[in-house]
Amino acid sequence: MMERAGSSPPLGGCRGHRLYYLKSLAIDRRTEPWSALLDAGREDGRLVREAQEGRGRAGRARLVEPPRELHPDVLAALERLGVERLYSHQAQALLAATEGPTIVTTGTASGKSLCFNLPTLHILCEQARARALYLYPTKALAQDQARALTAFGLPKRVRPAIYDGDTPREARREIRKSANVVLTNPDMLHVGILPNHAAWAELFSNLAVVVIDEAHVYRGVFGSHVGNVLRRLRRIASLYGTRPIFLLTSATIANPVELAERLTGLEDVQLIDEDGSPTPHRQIAVWNPPLTDEALGTRRSALGEAAELLAQLARDGARTICFMKSRKGVEVLSRLVKDDLQSTDAELAAQVQPYRAGYTPQQRRELEQQLVRGELCTVITTDALELGIDIGELDAAVVVTFPGTVASLRQMWGRAGRRGRGLAVYVAGEDALDQFFCRHPEDFLERPVEAAILDHESPLIYRAHLLCAAHEGPLSRGDAEFLGPRWEAHAEILQSAGELRRREGAIASAYVPSRPGSYPAGEVSLRSASPESFAIVDVSSGELLGSTEAARAHSTVHDGAIYMHQGRSYEVRELDLEQRRALVSPFSGDWYTQPKAQTDTEIVRLLDRRDALGVTLSFGEVSVTDTVLAYQRRRLVDHAQVDLIGLELPPTSFATQALWFELPSAAEPGGELAETLPSEILLGALHATEHAQIAVLPLIAMCDRWDIGGLSTNFHPQTGAPTIFLYDGHPGGIGITRTAYARFEELCEDARRLIAECPCSSGCPSCVQSPKCGNLNEPLHKAGALALLGRLLDCAVQTASAEPAVAPL
Ligand SMILES: [Zn+2]
Ligand SMILES: [Zn+2]
Repeated sequence: MMERAGSSPPLGGCRGHRLYYLKSLAIDRRTEPWSALLDAGREDGRLVREAQEGRGRAGRARLVEPPRELHPDVLAALERLGVERLYSHQAQALLAATEGPTIVTTGTASGKSLCFNLPTLHILCEQARARALYLYPTKALAQDQARALTAFGLPKRVRPAIYDGDTPREARREIRKSANVVLTNPDMLHVGILPNHAAWAELFSNLAVVVIDEAHVYRGVFGSHVGNVLRRLRRIASLYGTRPIFLLTSATIANPVELAERLTGLEDVQLIDEDGSPTPHRQIAVWNPPLTDEALGTRRSALGEAAELLAQLARDGARTICFMKSRKGVEVLSRLVKDDLQSTDAELAAQVQPYRAGYTPQQRRELEQQLVRGELCTVITTDALELGIDIGELDAAVVVTFPGTVASLRQMWGRAGRRGRGLAVYVAGEDALDQFFCRHPEDFLERPVEAAILDHESPLIYRAHLLCAAHEGPLSRGDAEFLGPRWEAHAEILQSAGELRRREGAIASAYVPSRPGSYPAGEVSLRSASPESFAIVDVSSGELLGSTEAARAHSTVHDGAIYMHQGRSYEVRELDLEQRRALVSPFSGDWYTQPKAQTDTEIVRLLDRRDALGVTLSFGEVSVTDTVLAYQRRRLVDHAQVDLIGLELPPTSFATQALWFELPSAAEPGGELAETLPSEILLGALHATEHAQIAVLPLIAMCDRWDIGGLSTNFHPQTGAPTIFLYDGHPGGIGITRTAYARFEELCEDARRLIAECPCSSGCPSCVQSPKCGNLNEPLHKAGALALLGRLLDCAVQTASAEPAVAPL
């Protein structure tokens, strides 16, 4: 196969772009396969921002000798693998692991696995009976790591085995007995291993190390569950007399230590974040499709733009990986790129491949190998590859539309840099966050990335696991160390619900299950906030696709809804309220659906209150009641409404956490804020403000806008005033609005900028319109929202300037 990438085109630029290259003042004098493309983008303004990273000293590797204290077998294995020296962070991690729990957050392709593999291998070589448990969020990642461990070539000392839902029954006993590194996922630990700990006595009585790779994945609902599973794990280990070391890795996030501590319940976690690996010299390009109608805010589609970029990169000889959120998008984009190339170079067109989740391990491995060998020029994928599959580095990484968090964006970009040089591109979509990113890339790239948020004590989640823990062993006073100081209060609630029973003992009392024969872990899904869920069944194959929280079922899987599951579309044939299931079938039409709903919030309990920006800001528990009334079908291409279809569904409610703030009404003295907002625009202004705040909330807390709900009303019966609510969309709440409450000022500032800077005249999908609005984006008043947020933020300025000046110069 011809070696395409990396070969520098002759000076003067690549085919067809000579003119651009000569005309522009190139920022980087060195010619790369993508130089001409960037020049063209600079020329016509689609390349809106550029940055460079990994130049000069910062880019160089810091290497150290492997410590002589490492077990000789491990040193010999390193030598066999050709690892003469370690990156400084790998040596630091090794040292830290001897002292206590550690989290490593160095970049993509920085050799993070060695950071936990070295200490683990050392322990396994030193102590023949020692055991290690590796947790991976996906099966594919566990398979990769099992291969990596085998590659050390220490078959007597290191015996890895994967234990997940696919492990054949007959192999399980042998794994329990003889594997000394068990690779599994949190779901299997929760439902298969912990409840049957007696069968795993050998593992638990010798458990020396627990590895949690890709820890940033454990956030939100999933993270809140995993936090509880890990506490149960520590509790069971202690029952067998072991206290394993916890070693974690994570992508770069704002709060790695906090994440590690919240996940494990341990304190004093050490952080290793000084990356000693060489950073490739990476050119970063932010690419915004051109506006097609300024007033409406419409742009050329990100897909079309990306297809053109990918085809050009292929022609220019760059090996490229492209990431997109939806499977449908991956397929469409692959077809567009192939079509584009077909006309000029059929051989290249054949080297473009989509890569989806759902391939067998063999298919995946084959594609990965083809990519590494250079037999493919372009691979287009959902985030299946994002989590560090073994493809090494490529020339270019193109991310189409904002992947949701800067942490993922960086991880995807981290794929670019083969032979020390790479191109990282971001192609913006029309969503509010996408366009905000284009205007303020530095806000995303330079300010600390989002914080991963989880709340292991979210009541429904916590109590579900407390019940599981009680089945694993009676709950008693000593459990505060693992389950937290408030466990007994929760246990009392479970007792009044008839789930637990208090058993008085001679020395101390304990809580035991009321129905010891039941199997509560089987009823708790780690991906859902409440045990009450609806099953989603594909009637074409009979396959159970997954489940959705009961609180969301009416709005996501009502009759006729188009439902996305792992990037694939399905149409709901029937929502069966009685059997609690949705029957769906694969869907290939060109529309999507948006429900219309009536939402009410009732304040149940005030938890905190403060004055912020001239209004009273509250945080507390609320009850949200939704009635889904109808749904709209909209065309995928231009979002135009096809029709509106009525539904007859009963109301549903769920308890969660919320922040809210009320505005003084115009009639009240001091209600001057209201004067700027006459009654005819008030509701539209509140509604647009709510949407903008929800759109930018993911900048502060690592979440998706679909995780957050909102309600704005010009009169709320409990506050007696115009009020905006932002609530956690999952029953019980998972800490998102708590963060928003604490950082309300930033939230308002970001929302104001989002609206003020959007070039549209009266609101568009890039500012105040929301793809998930239950009122179908009616009414919205962009100027009113801007006035409202402006007044709030002016209050902040006034308060600040009213304070006495400190030491005037
Ligand atoms: Zn706009
Ligand atoms: Zn709305």
